[in-house]
Order: sequence, then structure tokens, then C-alpha cells
Amino acid sequence: MQKIINTTDVNNKIEFNIIGHVNSPYKEKFAIPRQPGLVTSVKATITLTGDANNAELVRELKQFSHIWVLFVFHGTQQQGWKPLVRPPRLGGNKKIGVLATRSTFRPNPIGMSVVKLDAIDIKAKQVILHISAIDLLDKTPIVDIKPYVPYSDSIPHAHAGFAQIQPSTNLQVTFNDLAQMALTKYSNNFPDLALFIEQVLAQDPRPAYKQGKHDDKIYGMNLYDLNIQWQMQGLTTIEVIDITPVISK
Ligand code: SAM
Repeated sequence: MQKIINTTDVNNKIEFNIIGHVNSPYKEKFAIPRQPGLVTSVKATITLTGDANNAELVRELKQFSHIWVLFVFHGTQQQGWKPLVRPPRLGGNKKIGVLATRSTFRPNPIGMSVVKLDAIDIKAKQVILHISAIDLLDKTPIVDIKPYVPYSDSIPHAHAGFAQIQPSTNLQVTFNDLAQMALTKYSNNFPDLALFIEQVLAQDPRPAYKQGKHDDKIYGMNLYDLNIQWQMQGLTTIEVIDITPVISK
């Protein structure tokens, strides 16, 4: 099995095994929602690997509608960590302790997301978990999966400071003629593409300092193997202006 932390006990370190990988339409960090559940239409899979790729590990897991996915922020791991970070929720200009945030730049780059468990497939001895409403980059290494247990995991009256309520924007998402044609062209492979793009863009993936300001930049984001180009029209409308295949480097 692959090791993710190369260590010994003597150094006060712990070694974990990767138990699976995420196959996600989010191919780059930009535009991934900042928490699970914000973009409900996104579908992905987890492929179990090594000794963990065994049907016994998931026996009866299907009784649970949601699972906790514990993973490594492999896309930012190399950048190390910081004691203070600037959460986008605070406009990106106030520094607070990393442990008071869900930042990826943590002393141990461990993430946790509650996601919907849609199905479990076992084909040719390969265990595949079908999940949705994720906030995970493609190829994210998984270190654990646990059932979500509402009676204990959900605390409806908990205090959550600056993150008490779900972030909302008043953004409308429209598609110009070129983008509409592309949606039609890709509809066989990606029937829910329009909804997926709308939900991702409605989160306003731009940096916090751009929000509410005039912005004529043309942005691009990769979903699946498609590059989606879009631009602000005024302060409250995002127009998708083209959808083209990603050109591999
Ligand atoms: N729900 C998790 C948590 O609370 O630990 C992740 C929250 S973190 C704020 C979500 C962001 O992490 C996403 O918007 C994306 O940019 C980034 N991300 C997701 N998967 C990643 C990965 N494997 N490596 C690095 N960054 C990742």
C-alpha cells in the first residue's frame, strides 16, 4: 500500500495508508466549492485501493445515506502550512488561527467532508463508492471513510462564529449562444452540465476581494475535461461565454 506520511514513532509521527482515491470532475482547485453540500449536482466516485479494496470493508455501509470522507489535501500539501490564514468568508483580509478555519494549509493536511453516498458498486473485485455534493479535487487520496450518524454528528444549535450560515450570493448565471450550443453538443456525455456549471458559478469562485466590484476579466475553470469560460455582466450576472475541450499540455 502507498504510504502518505513517511515516519517513525520516535519522531512523534504517525504513518497512515491511503485507502482510496477520488475521481472528481473538479480537475483544479479553482472553483471547487468551499464545503460539501453547496453544489449538489456534482457526482464523483471513490475507488478503494490496496488491501482496503475489499468488499468486506463496505458491507452494510449502504444503510447510511451520507459518509464522512477523511482525506489528504494533496494539491496543497507541498506548500506547507501557516499558523494564521485569511478565510475567504472574512473577505480575505483578516488573519485568524488555522485551527479556527477549514483552510487546506494545516499542520497535518487532513480534510473531512460529509458527502452523499449514492451507491456502492463492486465490479471485477473493484469497490467503487458513488458519492455526490463533494468539495474534493480529482485524485484526492482518502485515508478513512465513516458513516455519518445524525444523532451525534448533527448539532443544530451549535455556534459557528463567522461561518454560522451557508454563504449565499445573489448571482444569476446565464449562457450565451455559443455556450448553449456547446451544452447541446456535450449533452450526451454530460446531461446535467448546465445545472452543474450554474451551481458552481453561483458560489462566486472569484477571489474574495473581487466580489461586489466591477470585473471584466474572462475566467476559465475546468470541469471534467471541459474548460468553461465566463465573465461578469454587471455585478450580479455571470455569463458563460464558451465551453471547449481542455487542451492537454
Ligand atoms: N470540507 C473539507 C474540510 O472542511 O476539511 C475541505 C474544506 S476546504 C476549505 C475546501 C477546498 O479545498 C476546496 O474549495 C478546494 O479548493 C480545496 N481542495 C479540495 N480537495 C483538495 C485537495 N485534494 N488538495 C488540495 N486542496 C483541495
